[in-house]
Amino acid sequence: MTTNQHPPEKMMFQLTLRRRGISDQAVLRTMEEVPRDLFVEAADREDAYRDSALPIACGQTISQPFVVAYMTEQLQLQKKHRVLEIGTGSGYQAAVLSRLAGNVLTVERYRKLADAARARLEKLAYHNVEVMLGDGLDLPANIGPFDRIIVTAAMEVIPDNLIARLEVGGVLIAPVGPHQGVQTLIRLTRTETGIERRELVDVRFVPALPGVAREL
Ligand code: SAH
Repeated sequence: MTTNQHPPEKMMFQLTLRRRGISDQAVLRTMEEVPRDLFVEAADREDAYRDSALPIACGQTISQPFVVAYMTEQLQLQKKHRVLEIGTGSGYQAAVLSRLAGNVLTVERYRKLADAARARLEKLAYHNVEVMLGDGLDLPANIGPFDRIIVTAAMEVIPDNLIARLEVGGVLIAPVGPHQGVQTLIRLTRTETGIERRELVDVRFVPALPGVAREL
């Protein structure tokens, strides 16, 4: 059993995350626990613990593990936090968040991806995650507020109606920049008096697009 839990590729996975600068022990432990091989396409299982993004259905991608760990670390999650994710994709980032936060609402514009992620998260017993089909750029007014917001698709600008859903003391992280090419991860913190903005690292995400997708 012990050898199954610590196959060589999982040890390399941890080493890579540490070497790239992830130091939060709770984040590292969670990255070790969440089975990324069950979130990628069956044909890619062998590559699940390499530090690279992989294709999923609907022309989307499951993010690179380092980026998932880095964004999670930057959110400084606590068990009491209510978290919003925009861009469910495979559900992997939502699973990681759910182990460190109180509960997670994740929004996806493709029905096929939302349904698959919901089924997968239920099967793996991530019971504090809710998957919603919808447009994260245009959420209904009654959703929120949140302690943490994470956007996992590239935005040209962060919509005001998203920032408005942050609690005081809340943190939002989003890749901001042109849809094609490189974006910068931006971290916004709502203080008593306004919004603090910090630029983190360069990243590449698939674009955030408006509306629920027409494709099934
Ligand atoms: N976090 C995911 C990877 C995200 S890929 C994971 O862990 O696997 C980005 C996802 O954002 C895609 O699935 C894409 O369909 C979705 N997306 C893009 N624009 C969106 C929008 N406006 N609202 C909701 N989801 C969106």
